Amino acid sequence: MLNQTLVLIKPDGLKKSLTGNILTRLSETKLEIIAAKIVRVSKKLAEEHYMHLKQEPFFPELVLYLQGELHQRKKVMAMIYWGEDAIQKVRDIAGATNPEEASSVSIRGQYGRITTKGLYENVVHASANDIEAEREIKLWFQPDEII
Ligand code: UDP
Ligand code: MG
Repeated sequence: MLNQTLVLIKPDGLKKSLTGNILTRLSETKLEIIAAKIVRVSKKLAEEHYMHLKQEPFFPELVLYLQGELHQRKKVMAMIYWGEDAIQKVRDIAGATNPEEASSVSIRGQYGRITTKGLYENVVHASANDIEAEREIKLWFQPDEII
């Protein structure tokens, strides 16, 4: 099925100069990039993006992480990938949420880490399913930014 997925290079990915590596890995999918920009993430945007995790003990730290407060890099790179099974293809290359459980050839397995506080700094976000992809794309992009 044709679909669209939100990809974020999180502040740790930018700080570690992984942008090129991550884009190269994602290009294996042969999907099309239909939007891309650098975003300064407000507290409100970070909280809305991760609203499904509001009850988790790590939520405040997670919001600071997405805002770049933990990496002195207060931005993320946001993109939309489009094509056949885009959501699943990007999730497969991104790898499991926990970088220690992620396949060692996945982006998160290669570059992610767990902080001493227990937060998963896993370098990229990728929408998990159709419903989340639709919600997240609306949250991060205006319709006229999508080409
Ligand atoms: N996260 C974490 N600890 C957990 C679960 C999640 O630090 O036990 C962080 C991690 O950065 C993850 C983000 O919260 O990417 C969003 O969690 P979600 O369960 O949506 O995983 P994802 O869709 O990113 O794989
Ligand atoms: Mg998720």
